[in-house]
Amino acid sequence: MKSILYTLKETLLEIFLPPICVICESKEGKMLCETCFGKIKFVDELQKCPKCSLVFYDRVPQKCPDCERLSPKFSKLISIFVYDEYGEKLIRKIKFENKLKVVEEFSNIIRSKLEKIEFDIVVPIPSYTRKWIKKGYIPSLKIARVISENLKKPIVPLIRKSKDIPSQLELSSEERLKNPKNAFEVTVRKINYRRILLVDDVATTTATLCECTRILLEKGADEVFCFSLARTPLKTF
Ligand SMILES: [Zn+2]
Ligand SMILES: [Zn+2]
Repeated sequence: MKSILYTLKETLLEIFLPPICVICESKEGKMLCETCFGKIKFVDELQKCPKCSLVFYDRVPQKCPDCERLSPKFSKLISIFVYDEYGEKLIRKIKFENKLKVVEEFSNIIRSKLEKIEFDIVVPIPSYTRKWIKKGYIPSLKIARVISENLKKPIVPLIRKSKDIPSQLELSSEERLKNPKNAFEVTVRKINYRRILLVDDVATTTATLCECTRILLEKGADEVFCFSLARTPLKTF
């Protein structure tokens, strides 16, 4: 009950008060003001792996370490911004401070990047935390909705979690590789869609996306593309 009242209060505040920037709290009428938007590092402006969007900055390795470790079966991972210190701050606002509407500020960029990809449906990766699901608060679903509205593709929740696992963001990189294994299942016996766009908020090692791609292909999908709002860069230290 408390959470419903809280959501109602938040919704009413959104209707009657003009949006405030979630980072600097300026009242420009946007949830992310132009100055704060300008501080974001966009994946497209940096050197990166053409397949998994791992950002290399200046140190371009011969082989992408994430693709080498996981041999992803998805065709391509498309990401918007770098999960650096600033990117993490932004994701924290979106994920933990109930500011899902911030995602809408990226609508134009998301549309222009995904227009080039041929896919039939949008599949969100289920959230890791039961607490959020109870609140109806699932970041990957919000991102999927923005994609669905902008590109006119339906959302089909084809994946559910089959066991409770900790959030990837709380684990070491070695643990992140093993954590998603067998943690998800497809909700139908046979998938009748050809090309799927899998959606998550942050891609760290891509282990979760690889595991979900594996089960979707196993159940009959022809091709899987992935999308994440943020992507971790190659560690340079
Ligand atoms: Zn701002
Ligand atoms: Zn790669």
